[in-house]
Order: sequence, then C-alpha cells, then structure tokens
Amino acid sequence: MHRNYDVVVIGAGNAALCAALAAQEKGASVAVLECAPQEESGGNSRFTAGAIRFAYRGIEDLLQVMPDLSEEEIKNTDFGVYTEENFFDDMFRVTRFRTDPNLTEMLVKRSFETMVWMRSKGLRFVPIYGRQAFKIDGKFKFWGGLTVEAWGGGEGLVEALTESCKTRGIEIFYETRATGLIQQDGAVTGVIVKHRGKTSEIGGRAVVIASGGFESNAEWRTRYLGPGWELAKVRGTRFNTGDGIRMALEIGASPYGNWSGCHAVGWERNAPEFGDLAVGDGFQKHSYPFGIIVNGAGKRFVDEGADFRNYTYAKYGREILNQPGQFAWQIFDAKVTHLLRDEYRIRQVTKVSANTLEELAGKLEDVDAEAVLATLKEYNAAVQTGVPFNPTVKDGRGTKGLAVPKSNWANVLDTPPFEAYAITCGITFTFGGLRVDANAQVIDSDMRPIPGLYAAGEMVGGIFYFNYPGGTGLMSGAVFGRTAGGAAAAAGKT
Ligand SMILES: Cc1cc2nc3c(=O)[nH]c(=O)nc-3n(C[C@H](O)[C@H](O)[C@H](O)COP(=O)(O)OP(=O)(O)OC[C@H]3O[C@@H](n4cnc5c(N)ncnc54)[C@H](O)[C@@H]3O)c2cc1C
Repeated sequence: MHRNYDVVVIGAGNAALCAALAAQEKGASVAVLECAPQEESGGNSRFTAGAIRFAYRGIEDLLQVMPDLSEEEIKNTDFGVYTEENFFDDMFRVTRFRTDPNLTEMLVKRSFETMVWMRSKGLRFVPIYGRQAFKIDGKFKFWGGLTVEAWGGGEGLVEALTESCKTRGIEIFYETRATGLIQQDGAVTGVIVKHRGKTSEIGGRAVVIASGGFESNAEWRTRYLGPGWELAKVRGTRFNTGDGIRMALEIGASPYGNWSGCHAVGWERNAPEFGDLAVGDGFQKHSYPFGIIVNGAGKRFVDEGADFRNYTYAKYGREILNQPGQFAWQIFDAKVTHLLRDEYRIRQVTKVSANTLEELAGKLEDVDAEAVLATLKEYNAAVQTGVPFNPTVKDGRGTKGLAVPKSNWANVLDTPPFEAYAITCGITFTFGGLRVDANAQVIDSDMRPIPGLYAAGEMVGGIFYFNYPGGTGLMSGAVFGRTAGGAAAAAGKT
C-alpha cells in the first residue's frame, strides 16, 4: 500500500472520525487507519452509552441538538440548564484545579457548537431518560449536567460517524496498524503501517493521531499508573495500547498531563480481561450512591454519597483496586432496588440475595461475615433519617459519627430482600498523553509545534486529572477531533 492523502488519521473512534469529517469538510482527501478488524473497530467510543456532556442554556439549545423532541417530552420533562459556568466549575472542581485552562476553555466553549456540528454530519441525539433522570411528581427531572446521548449508544454513534465518513468519500482501512511516523526536514509526512503482516507507508501532508490512551497495555499501566494496575480489568477496546503516544514521543513530542492518573470504575468482578461488545458498559455498577460498598474486611472505604454519581464514579475504581484482593461488594435493600440502573439486571452479574442481613453477610464471598454485619449495624444506626430522601438533588441525608461518612442518599438497610453485587476495578482510559496547542497541534519538548502532527481524544494530556465529569470523554474527542481535522486540512494544503 503506497498512497498519498492530504490528511491521514490514526484510529477510528469518535475523535478520529470527527477529525476525518472536519478535514474532509475543508476539502482534504482523507484516509483513516484502524488497527482493529471492522467488527471490533470504533475503539472505546463504541463501548460507551453515548452519553455526551455539553453546555446548554435551556430547551431552545436542546432543540438545536434534538429537533425531534416531542411536545409530550418537552411538557413532561424538566431538562434544567447546564451553563458554560457549570461546565467550567465541574472541570475545575473534579480535577482539583489542575486542568489546563486553555484546553478546558476549548472543551467547554466549543461543546455546544460541536454538538450542532455533529448533528449536521448525520448524528442523532436523544435525552438519557433511563440513567440521568428520575420521575418526580409525574415529571422527569434531569440531574448532574448530563442530559443527552447518541441515538443507539456507542454503537449507534460509531456507525453514524462511519457512514458519514464513507458517504463523503473518506477511505477507512481496517486491520491497518500505524507503527511509526515518517518525517522529512522535521515535518511529519506520513505513517508507517502494518496490514496483515506487511509493512508499507502512507503519505499524508498532515497526520492526526487519535488512537486512544494506554489503558489496554498492562505493562504501561503498571509502569505509569503504578503497581497493581496490571490487575485491573479493561472496560473497553483491547486496541488502545499507547501506540500513538509512543510514536509521537519517539519524534520528540512533549508528554503532558496526569500520567499516573486514569478513569476507572466499579466493574463486575468476574468480567473478562477486556471489554465485550455484546455487554458494552453493562459490567459497570454505578448505583452505589443508593447503597453501601464494603471490602473483604467488611469495612466501608469511600463516601458512596459524596456527590452525584457523575462526579465520583471515575475515581472510585482506583479505591477498589487499592482494597485487599482488589474487590468489593455493593449492598442495597428493597427500598432502592427500583432506582438501580439497567446494568444490575443483566445476566453476567455476581449477585447474592438474602432475606436478613445475617444471611446476606454469610453469602458475601471472600468477606469477613462478622465484620460486615458490624459495619451494617453501625451504618444503619448512623443514618440521619429525619432528612427526606431525594435522588434528584444532593439531599444531605447523611450519616453521623462514622469514620467514613456517607454524605447524601443514606438509607437504613432494613427492607428485605437485600441484594449485593461483587465488583472490581475496571479501567476506562488513561489521562496522560501529549501536549497540544489551540489547533490541537502536537508540541515538542522545546515547546514548538511539530509541523504536520495533530492529536485528539484520550491521548491529549492536560485535560483530566484525578477525576472526570461523566460524558466528557466523547465531548473532548469531538471538540479536539474537529479542531485537529480542520487544522490538519489547512496545513495539508500549503
Ligand atoms: C465501557 C465504557 C463506557 C464509556 N461511556 C462513556 C460515555 O457514556 N460517555 C463518554 O463521554 N465517554 C464514555 N467512555 C469514555 C470514552 O469511550 C472515551 O473517552 C472516548 O471514546 C475516547 O475516544 P477516542 O476517539 O479518543 O478513543 P477510541 O474511541 O478508543 O478510539 C481509538 C482508536 O484508535 C485505534 N488504534 C489504537 N492504536 C492504533 C494503531 N496503532 N493504529 C491504528 N489504529 C489504532 C483503536 O482501534 C480505536 O479505533 C466510556 C468508555 C468505556 C470503555
């Protein structure tokens, strides 16, 4: 394979396909290189629920993104607002003010226009009624700033983006792994690829790398995230092994961001080593704010109700990995089982049920039964039952006097049947990556842009530190992908 294009894009997830569409829109000829076979293509983007975070001022903005909303839906739903200020506050708060302000500004300020742009490329969006809203007095109320998902989830998103690329003449090469970058006089001019064992070169006046982080590489995980991370399960694609980051570093790119940090969640304890597209994100277990989590010693170790799920789930995977045996159990009683997300009702769960707390304690595999019973009793006695329970706001119904408090949505566990679910740590993506500028152009260690090289998506460093507001990964990929593709096309013409 010896071909030349204006822009070559590495990867075929959300960031890559947005970059390809943005480059094509500017008149560039575009090739997309995807190392996975077509049936496994689309990276982590395909594993998502398609939930995507953006700033909106109310229903008028939402109607630009979802013109198909019915009168009925509008009447029966309180969509609220999620302003740019709210988005900024969330980014700064969860990253403990580490996020790069310039990159965050791009992310937040371009979020809404990027949604409208994606729609113009044929994507459809719908409200996330199932996961981000609760019905209060007959009306759905959204909470936590995350309101919209791609139609058909991650599968639908990748399919629509792929179709959109194909109808616009963008060529996608599957089973084509980028292995290195080609440079001439300091400028990137192409990519070395391996296709079914054969190595060749693809020329590009500019290259966009959007090949994800290094979450699927056990050796890099252990090296950068720390000992024990080789034991985490990978939630998504097995193909994100840090190739793009490595190739860029090899030609002098500057590493940037939270290299020891990652997004990791509570994930089915017996899930396979990598994600399974048939289950998607069903292995996650995100309803812990309505119950408690205990480790093998029978102890609680996080504040399950510290904040809305969207703002704690991405950092609690690390807490679970740090427990003895790298596992924990989530426990609920019958008062809240109707609030549990769909993922609790899939076949592939490690679940036990019991009619008394004593019986439940005896059924939790690998857990000290006496200790967990003591924890349950102590927790039950500490719940401030005088404060009303309300899942749509931070209700302040917490515990009093516990070493590990629960700050919101605390309920006495007293109504059988009791249910418990075994979880371990599932890694989603890594936070460290490459340094880019306002054009998403990769910066070298002398802080100069590398001619012809752009990056987008998970592999951009400096955006997320320690934690992450749910739904921001897809938005970041779309914003930086679109920026990178447009800038690469402009560079490719000179
Ligand atoms: C189970 C799960 C659920 C999630 N849910 C959500 C959600 O609802 N909302 C949200 O915003 N985020 C979610 N995320 C995070 C989200 O998936 C990522 O932030 C986002 O999809 C990253 O997009 P990307 O394009 O950078 O990477 P990816 O979509 O992972 O794409 C990377 C691509 O690069 C390819 N590639 C890798 N190496 C090479 C190589 N050497 N040569 C060629 N190609 C290569 C891969 O095959 C892949 O196609 C979820 C993640 C997982 C795993």
